[in-house]
Amino acid sequence: MCTIIPRSEQLIHSISWQSELSGAITDLASLLTYTGNRIEDITGLDTGSLSFPLRVPRPFADRIVPGNPHDPLLRQVLPLTQENLPIPGYISDPLDEAASNITPGIIHKYHGRVLLILTGACAINCRYCFRREFPYSENQNSMTEWQQALDYIRQDDSITEVIFSGGDPLLNSDKKLQQLTRAIANIPHVKRLRIHTRLPVVIPQRITTELLAWLTETRLQTVMVIHSNHANEIDSSVEMALQQLSNQGVILLNQSVLLKGINDSVEALSHLSERLFEAGVLPYYLHLLDKVQGAAHFDLDEDKARELAGKLAAHLPGYLTPKLVKENPGEPAKTPLLPRL
Ligand code: SF4
Repeated sequence: MCTIIPRSEQLIHSISWQSELSGAITDLASLLTYTGNRIEDITGLDTGSLSFPLRVPRPFADRIVPGNPHDPLLRQVLPLTQENLPIPGYISDPLDEAASNITPGIIHKYHGRVLLILTGACAINCRYCFRREFPYSENQNSMTEWQQALDYIRQDDSITEVIFSGGDPLLNSDKKLQQLTRAIANIPHVKRLRIHTRLPVVIPQRITTELLAWLTETRLQTVMVIHSNHANEIDSSVEMALQQLSNQGVILLNQSVLLKGINDSVEALSHLSERLFEAGVLPYYLHLLDKVQGAAHFDLDEDKARELAGKLAAHLPGYLTPKLVKENPGEPAKTPLLPRL
């Protein structure tokens, strides 16, 4: 068994988010060593070169229970050979986002809101990600090119909400995010700024004073939708980062993906909701997996998902029960799936 050296909380807090990002684990051998696992104890590992690279920041890896090859956090980032099997119905762009990618950097799918793709990069690479094949290189805008995206928002007064998305939008510098937020706030019909990010969970040091400054100076109402799939992802450092945001009036919501072997039980999902609420976050959506190529082994069929949602609803108060939804390309909203009670 490999020896892993746990890092103290004090040490973790003294490292900047940029250093955590550049020091992320990017190869399988290091991930296994860091998490106290041995290659021979895990079946089906993909030890070859990966088309979707491995990337795990150490603050997230520190929450993986050492020596447990079934750990729910480890399983979200572990490359398996199953990803390489072609499975009918699992495709590279399951949400047909290419059709809504109307101008570089913008996805306009739903009435009243647009997504700005601020980067293709993520701090962590989740093996089930529906955008693992998204053509990010075609959506990398310079500040001048962002003008085109801003003009698109300005000319459509039905747009009341702008969503920073990616990749992970918080990988951008605070300076760039501040400039963009100010430019958006200058468009009178935009009321809200929403940020979809997994960074407060995977590298909580990203919630810096500089970030809080541009988020709080804006006239826009601010909503942050974090992405956590399991209660073990929320340790005291994540909780502290989230509290800083909610203390500044940022509305915090969570979206999870229902993942086989990771959170597909009443116990795991109710524990997640309880933990989120303790950290000041409301559970919002529980997504059925988007059928992206390479992620079929995480998928749970709709009937089982509805049955699970029914049991969850019977177990938790309504405000702690996330809405089970799936996304069908071309539809004007996400489709709610009724819990089977
Ligand atoms: S953080 Fe989100 S966008 Fe990035 S890899 Fe994970 S699921 Fe995909």
